[in-house]
Amino acid sequence: MAPVAKVGGLADVVLGLSRELLKQGHCVEVVLPKYDHINYGPIERVAEVESYYDEIWHKNTLWEGMICDVPVLIIEDHSPKKFFSRGTVYGCVDDVDRFLYFSRAALQCLLNTGRKPDVLHLHDWHAAACAPLANKLGFDSAKVILTIHNIEHQGLTDRKALEKVELETTGLEDDSRPGTFNLLKGGIIYANQVVTVSPRYAQEVLTKEGGRGLDGTLRRHSHKFHGVLNGIDTTYWNPATDPLLPIGFESGSPKRKACKRALQQRMALSDEDRPIVGCVTRLVPQKGLGLIKHTLKQTIKMGGQFVLLGSSPIPEIQHEFEQLRHSLRCNPHASLCLHHREDLAHLIFAGSDMLIVPSLFEPCGLTQLIALRYGSIPIVRRTGGLADTIRDIDDDTPGNGFCFDYPDTQGVNYALNRALKTWKKQPKIWKELISNGMNADHSWKQPTQRYLQLYTAN
Ligand code: ADP
Repeated sequence: MAPVAKVGGLADVVLGLSRELLKQGHCVEVVLPKYDHINYGPIERVAEVESYYDEIWHKNTLWEGMICDVPVLIIEDHSPKKFFSRGTVYGCVDDVDRFLYFSRAALQCLLNTGRKPDVLHLHDWHAAACAPLANKLGFDSAKVILTIHNIEHQGLTDRKALEKVELETTGLEDDSRPGTFNLLKGGIIYANQVVTVSPRYAQEVLTKEGGRGLDGTLRRHSHKFHGVLNGIDTTYWNPATDPLLPIGFESGSPKRKACKRALQQRMALSDEDRPIVGCVTRLVPQKGLGLIKHTLKQTIKMGGQFVLLGSSPIPEIQHEFEQLRHSLRCNPHASLCLHHREDLAHLIFAGSDMLIVPSLFEPCGLTQLIALRYGSIPIVRRTGGLADTIRDIDDDTPGNGFCFDYPDTQGVNYALNRALKTWKKQPKIWKELISNGMNADHSWKQPTQRYLQLYTAN
């Protein structure tokens, strides 16, 4: 949940959707593990709750707090394995055990504190086991909704891991790996409604190529499967009031230039008036890493500047980009920051002229939406949610960015070169692009209406 426990877009979705639901008069509580490396702000110890794991009832401390005005329940596990004291959100060898433990403990906490939710909204495989467990533990009247943020990650495991939380194996057998069980598949089968984060991605995952082995399951359950485009939290992501920017600005304001200068300064770029192409991303193969590097080179060649903010959970990739950063250390037109830095992300959206998102696949993508709101023009590969949100100025009126179809260097050049040329030669059109993007509504208002329909659907 952004901004405290954030790895990628899922965190933004949990914050943005919760805040909009609250705004529209609904009652929301977000249940999170108590990760040892995260500061949740002021929180209060409210109960001790036992939960079952591997034949023993384990103690958990339940804490309550508020994150950006959203009530949160935080579960601190006292199991011998200390599942959430690992200094990281994901990426442990026993991730499946960790989140199975959490799923069971979360439901147990709701039950034992007398909460009777109308809706249990689960996110990704990490919470998907709550769908079959909810049936078993007696949440009879709760509607269970599962949102799939990325079908690449499914939570594969063996029978023993499921037995530790008394999860039935029926229906969870993986379709292509005998003897393996699939938590996301269990979520799809047992949830009342299943959502993925854009209409285009919803179509893509129904195909053999895009479904990563779950297309058959999704097709069998297509009557309850929907694509709902993510929004962004427009209060959190507001260039006029953003406390992480050196200066706030509105659409059409020349103050945006000050953010560009601040970005050049922070990233040690020369302060010439060149177009800046930004990129804010997890560095994983899905994001088109070769194309990101190509964009860097091509941008410099075309007289622009390039900034990358990204980090990788894969050590080899992190190392590869460290080397690239080292090789560019004397270049005044390119700069890389290979950590997670919330404040720098905001400055890149506010200070860059363009944002490149060359993903091989992209369930929704939020950076292109944030970029639009901050006046940076997206250059995207037409896939998943990128295809649903960015309209090429040469194909559509009104356009809001630059697109390419094939994830290769020619594709990138086609879109990038047009963007750089428009920036240089057609300042009036560029201004219009910025103002269209900044004034468009990408808030959670509409998507929340759609989720509310699904929460109450039969
Ligand atoms: P994904 O969920 O696949 O990571 P999205 O585009 O949906 O991709 O969401 C990415 C979110 O994570 C955005 O809010 C983006 O600003 C943020 N982000 C990605 N990398 C970093 C980083 N290194 N530092 C700060 N924020 C980051």
